[in-house]
Amino acid sequence: MKNSKNKAIVIFSGGQDSTTCLYWAKNNFDYVEALFFDYGQIHKIEKKSAIKIAKLANIKLNILDIPTFTQIGGSSLTDKNLKNPIGEVKKNITPISFVPGRNLIFLTFGAAYAYTKKIYNLVTGVCETDCSNYPDCRNATIKSLEKSIFLGMDFKIKIHTPLIKLTKAQAVILAKKLGALDALAYSHTCYNGTFPPCGKCPACILRANGFEKAGLPDPLLERTKKLKSRSK
Ligand code: ZN
Repeated sequence: MKNSKNKAIVIFSGGQDSTTCLYWAKNNFDYVEALFFDYGQIHKIEKKSAIKIAKLANIKLNILDIPTFTQIGGSSLTDKNLKNPIGEVKKNITPISFVPGRNLIFLTFGAAYAYTKKIYNLVTGVCETDCSNYPDCRNATIKSLEKSIFLGMDFKIKIHTPLIKLTKAQAVILAKKLGALDALAYSHTCYNGTFPPCGKCPACILRANGFEKAGLPDPLLERTKKLKSRSK
């Protein structure tokens, strides 16, 4: 395979951070593919967002099914009986929306997929600043997993984390620079899976704070307003 060093796979959820990463990858590699995991998340809107954005970005989207997380349950994103948290992220507490093992599995499957295609770059939107307090979004976790993948697959893949040290406001400014704002109008972030977003869950609050501090309107909310005024 030619130029395989210049290819990348993006772990893509259709959310704000992975959309920014998709455009980051487009700007940094000659060829990019996205992987969306249908892991039994309650909100089907995520898949719709991912399909729409991949189309806008002109990126091949692969959808992989992992029903196991629903069988395991224990997270408000996979179990309808558990309520999503409300309000700002609480420091030092892993919230009920945490899906244990999710990023470890996504990146491991992503690496397995990349292995078969001889692609040596994997991109993920994890962030340890302004984050949801998920332990699998930390730099130390990613570095350790990169090493485990190397040992377990004899495959030197690099896991890129362009947002790891950025605040949400810095991530918004980066999205603007990369030309990702139009795509962000279709990204989905809300834990409650509603459109328009609920505005009350920790994910909505983090997103709103980021756009406010960056001094830019959220394209998703702008699109919502436009749709509302059209239906009047
Ligand atoms: Zn919300």
